[in-house]
Amino acid sequence: MGPQISSHLLSDPLDHYPVLDLSKLKSLNTNQKTFRESYGLELYRQTGQTGCAYCGISFVDSNSNNFTHWLMMSVDHVVPRKTALLLSIDQNIWDSILNLVLCCRSCNDYGNRDRQKVPYQPEVVNSPEAFLHWRRDTFRYRFQKISEKRAHDLGTYQFWVPLPDSTDSD
Ligand SMILES: [Zn+2]
Repeated sequence: MGPQISSHLLSDPLDHYPVLDLSKLKSLNTNQKTFRESYGLELYRQTGQTGCAYCGISFVDSNSNNFTHWLMMSVDHVVPRKTALLLSIDQNIWDSILNLVLCCRSCNDYGNRDRQKVPYQPEVVNSPEAFLHWRRDTFRYRFQKISEKRAHDLGTYQFWVPLPDSTDSD
């Protein structure tokens, strides 16, 4: 049995966030450069999320790689910032924890390559409830796309790191 692409089943981190009062959403001001000290830390403190929303890698595991994993962390806008700006959505909605997940750099990179194809629903503008539905659909869409790209790269990875041959004996 080869390595699994991920044992991380589709689980939207938002389902584990504290119950959000949609009338009090606030922008975390993600234009700041120091996300680990500012909005990334704020996101972690408010939600307890400690792993990549897409592949499940932990950023804080207590093993020798933990600092390297932590450095691979980024913050992802599920509904992309550009799309939200294009639709004139209130920044207190699209830049709130509702629309933010922790994400590793490689998954973020996979997702960015697919940004143009995010399902487009202009009727959601400035209704937090409608935005929430849109954001959930977009997360599922991106989760699927990112999983497909990881699976493709896993095929290439096996040229670099061949699977152990279980028929070998010594
Ligand atoms: Zn990831």
